[in-house]
Amino acid sequence: MSAPAPFLATTDLRARTLTVAELTAALPRAALDVDAAADAVRPVVEAVAARGAEAVLEASERFDGIRPEHLRVPQEALDRALAELDPAIRAALEESIARVRRVDAAQVRRDETVQVVPGGTVTQRWVPVRRVGLYVPGGRAVLPSSVVMNVVPAQTAGVEQIVLASPPQKEFGGLPHPTILAACALLGVTEVLAAGGAQAIALLAHGAEDLGDGTALAGVDLVTGPGNVYVAAAKRLVRGRVGIDAEAGPTEIAILADHTADPAFVAADLISQAEHDPLAASVLVTDSPALVEAVEAELAAQVPAAAHHERIATSLRGEQSGAVLVADLAQGLAVVDAYGAEHLEIHTEHAAEVAARVTNAGAVFVGPHSPVSLGDYAAGSNHVLPTGGTSRFTGGLGVQTFLRGIHVVQYDRDALAGARDAATALAHAEGLPSHGDAIDVRFRR
Ligand code: NAD
Repeated sequence: MSAPAPFLATTDLRARTLTVAELTAALPRAALDVDAAADAVRPVVEAVAARGAEAVLEASERFDGIRPEHLRVPQEALDRALAELDPAIRAALEESIARVRRVDAAQVRRDETVQVVPGGTVTQRWVPVRRVGLYVPGGRAVLPSSVVMNVVPAQTAGVEQIVLASPPQKEFGGLPHPTILAACALLGVTEVLAAGGAQAIALLAHGAEDLGDGTALAGVDLVTGPGNVYVAAAKRLVRGRVGIDAEAGPTEIAILADHTADPAFVAADLISQAEHDPLAASVLVTDSPALVEAVEAELAAQVPAAAHHERIATSLRGEQSGAVLVADLAQGLAVVDAYGAEHLEIHTEHAAEVAARVTNAGAVFVGPHSPVSLGDYAAGSNHVLPTGGTSRFTGGLGVQTFLRGIHVVQYDRDALAGARDAATALAHAEGLPSHGDAIDVRFRR
């Protein structure tokens, strides 16, 4: 009998010295990327911009298999969902909310005034975005935890208006999943839309004159939240009209491990993220060929026992997943930095020291008892994180996502006099003498 195909294709980089660009090209990535998905969803986004609610309903019929009766979820549906919520799930949501709030409270920025010179100050004011649109997934799985991860930092930042969208569910009469509605009610979110995918992102960004119930929906200033590749692509398309957080698309886990790692833990964590999406990426980076073998053996035992084993096997065998063999920890760190994973776990000796040397990752999980699933629900950290290597230039969702820094400049006449020479010299150097005149005029009187 032939041995079953391995789950993880192995890339051996041990004998190679690669530049960052070469490393990035050598690492596993999904074939269906955000660019390709953007071409697919552009017509949906344009239709919603042009025709509003009717285009959202048509897309819902096509992609979610239902035309919701109400795009705006009625308040009684939110109240009912909370009243009927299983007490154990309510307690779990409350625990998750409390932990995220504890972390977020420490992230609030204070206005700061710097006296640059006597009589001349610059104040950094932090002002919350006024109206935000939060996306909560509900395709293959419904993620009430993403209600917590979106809403808590927005509320902590002081956002005035929150509107939340999640896909309509066929089995719940075209409403979003009741646990999502209950989580909204628990957090006091009242403006909730039964819309998913690209159509939801476009609706949030453009608003609609009439949602079909005689009420208008005002467009938002910022759209945040996780989703599949189509959601990430739609966020890229509306960016500029509105702000977005990161492109938080199909989930990724990279695990940097050495011979001390427990293969059962490593395999379970690779599986847990593969469970999200056939496009989810699970990547093991190690200097230990023995660990790769042991993890394969664990995957062979654990995958068939998993509820979503088909999706998990597709994701683990996809070209976005694999094992990368490195010569040593230094090369391993170069690999995980080049990859810039959404989630990075460190299962090595001196894990905290190794973690401190990582510069590109959405979030880092240190040691054997900090699995990504903990961060998904109840670590206190945020689970809406950058994917596709975008952690090179952006962080995960947090209080800061919902704040804008505004510099407020106030100089008196003497302080302006002290800056006059420098400012006018630079104005002339730039060939913009009127800039200099705007300063000089104040001293000619
Ligand atoms: P989802 O709500 O993101 O997507 C469902 C929607 O996708 C549907 O409403 C539908 O409109 C649209 N859609 C489906 N197939 C389509 C197609 N062929 N063309 C156009 N649109 C289509 O729910 P999901 O699919 O379960 O995905 C959730 C995603 O969120 C997963 O990929 C998961 O990994 C990801 N996630 C990411 C993070 C992060 O921070 N990066 C966090 C949590 C979850």
